[in-house]
This record gives sequence, C-alpha cells and structure tokens, in this order.
Amino acid sequence: MNNKTLVLIVEDDESIRNFMSAIFEANGYGTVIATNGASSAAIAASHRPDLILLDLGLPDIDGVEVLKKLREWTGVPIVVVSARGHEREKVEALDSGADDYITKPFGTAELLARARAALRRGGGDSASFESGRVTVGELEIDYEKRSVKLAGREIHFTPIEYKIVALLARHAGKVLTHDFITKEVWGPYTDEIRSLRVNMSNIRRKVEKNPAEPRYVITEPSVGYKMSDE
Ligand code: CA
Repeated sequence: MNNKTLVLIVEDDESIRNFMSAIFEANGYGTVIATNGASSAAIAASHRPDLILLDLGLPDIDGVEVLKKLREWTGVPIVVVSARGHEREKVEALDSGADDYITKPFGTAELLARARAALRRGGGDSASFESGRVTVGELEIDYEKRSVKLAGREIHFTPIEYKIVALLARHAGKVLTHDFITKEVWGPYTDEIRSLRVNMSNIRRKVEKNPAEPRYVITEPSVGYKMSDE
C-alpha cells in the first residue's frame, strides 16, 4: 500500500480508459479500473478511492443509476464523463450527486483540473463554510451577518440575489443545476428559470469587473452555474 491519491476510472472504452489512466499515473495518482457498471460498486467498496471518474455511457447499467447507487453509501467526489450534447444526462447526474462533469473529447489539462477541483471539495461543502464564512478571491460571504463584501466593500444584494450568491458560495467549485438553484431559492413548486437568469445578470453586474468574462460566477451552458473556487 502507498499513500497516493487513488482514482477509480469507470469506463468501458479501452482507449479512453488507457488515456485517462496514463494521465493520472504520470501525474502521481494511483488508478484502479472498472470496465462496467456492475463491477464498479464492489471495486469502489474494496479500494476506497479518493475520486471516481464515472462514464455515463456504460454497456450494462445506466451511468446515472450507478451514480445513485454509489451515493447511497459514499460521499467520495464523483466526476461524470459524458458525450457531447448529452446535456440532460449531465443535469440528471449533477442532481443525483455528481460533483462535476467532463465532456468527451477532453484534454489532459482539463481532466487534471476537474479532478483537482473535485478532490479539493472532498465531496462536501466548501471547507470554510463551517466557520460561517466563505472567501472566494476578493469576495467574502458572512453567513451570520448575511453580508457580502468585495475587496472589503459591502455589496448590496436583494434578498433573492443574496440567497443565490450564498448558495453558490457554499458549494464553491461544484456545478449547481438550474433546477437545483431555483428549488433552493424559490421553493420546490416553482419554475423560475427566467428569474434566475435575470438575478444572475444583476449579481454579475455587482461582483464582476467584466461581466462578459466572469471571475466568480461561471455559466455552465445548458446545465447551470458554478462559483469558482480558485
Ligand atoms: Ca462508454
């Protein structure tokens, strides 16, 4: 045994599997492989990986079902791997407990960046959230005072805007789907996707130096939003 960070790769396509495994091994990670959904849970249980890369297009079981089963017993960070254009599948995976997704084809830098971000989050909420305060770059959210400061200056948000910023910051680094955000902010029986967009552009005007190239609130096209954690 050694203390390398262990990545479980669940992928039926041999060339992609070898590509991913070679990248991780070359960057100091240990890897373990599952080639289908059925074997992945047992391998995850016996090897206790620090991170799981889970292909959603598996030959035997739907990847989202594999994800749901894993989430019944483990909080390990899971990044799902999805084919381009399968937006609904990604959204379903995120709403079922995936931490992030990566779209095929992807490169080395993106794979490692997504893996590092997921490992940093450790499958839980933002580490500093316990202390009642989250800092992202120059943005500081104080949950007790319900205040947000940018470079030390208080920003005035409407109650809805504050709820959205507080939610994104609490899950900094994780993609939150449109559906998840609207349910958390407006409650379970609303469909406020348009209001979400309007609020998001107001938030960006208040926190971003250049709203066209956001530093804090990142759009994940067709999927949702994420607060950057770097
Ligand atoms: Ca596949």
